[in-house]
Amino acid sequence: MGLFHCPMGAAFYEDDDCIDCGMCYAKTKDEMVEASKKIRAYLKSHALKSSTIGKIAVCGKGGVGKSTVVTLLANALREAGYSVLVLDTDESNPGLYRMFGFDKQPKALMTVLSRLPSGKKEVTAKWLTPDRITVADIPSEYMLGGDGFKFLMVGKIEDPFQGCACSMANIAGDLVGKLAVQDKELVLIDIEAGIESFGRGVERNVDTVLIVVEPSFESMAIAERITYMAEGMGISRVRAILNKVPSEKTRQRMTEELDKKDVRILGAISFDPELSEAGFEGTTLINSKATEEMKAIARLLLDESK
Ligand code: SF4
Repeated sequence: MGLFHCPMGAAFYEDDDCIDCGMCYAKTKDEMVEASKKIRAYLKSHALKSSTIGKIAVCGKGGVGKSTVVTLLANALREAGYSVLVLDTDESNPGLYRMFGFDKQPKALMTVLSRLPSGKKEVTAKWLTPDRITVADIPSEYMLGGDGFKFLMVGKIEDPFQGCACSMANIAGDLVGKLAVQDKELVLIDIEAGIESFGRGVERNVDTVLIVVEPSFESMAIAERITYMAEGMGISRVRAILNKVPSEKTRQRMTEELDKKDVRILGAISFDPELSEAGFEGTTLINSKATEEMKAIARLLLDESK
């Protein structure tokens, strides 16, 4: 194989899983685009139509309030009786753990990687080598929280020349793919801002993508791109959560714009100055209008899996 992982998980060209998309031997940009279209068409036609919700990726443009939405949603799902595992895969946003009330970060998952003399990195942790693992298999040093809620973090870029975030994306994608979600358990994945994670295929093994959208041209344009890419990965449940909505009129305008872009909306969170103030402090308001709005959104989401 070349310098990337085959999106189909094929070990080599003409392997059983290979669909001959041409990506690993593409030499020009046009050939790569064609290969990408073949992968998208294949995955879309083979999308799992299962109604089950187990692994939810939360995405969106930078600054849209993704971390706030993850926090509110995790709390709403817990209140609905689910055991929630939050996986922070955003390598630049430093404070999600604080928004859940923790005063320190857990040990980063990327510490399972060892650098080989060749410069490549490999996973040495035995617990991460089986094809299927459960939350109970993850060593406690990597987790914060207790019964009903757990928090894991892939790692952060903290120093100059530390290297790119691809190895973190690989760990995140690998863990999400292997995690077997039990009954009444949900995994909520905080994805880095933007669309790069889709290029790396981090979301490949989730069943639901939630896009946080604020009232701005860029945010709605990125929501359209994310919908396109998520559906092209074979993810059939892709929904938007409108955030920081200042008025009913804005909500309607956003709905009309996103309708035109074929982005389906799950619900909306109103603009709340107190919520913004809490975000400034790196915390989350426990009892706010947004809490109630998110409970309604969580109910709609859970209803989809019934
Ligand atoms: S041709 Fe496509 S599917 Fe086949 S190994 Fe290469 S990247 Fe994977």
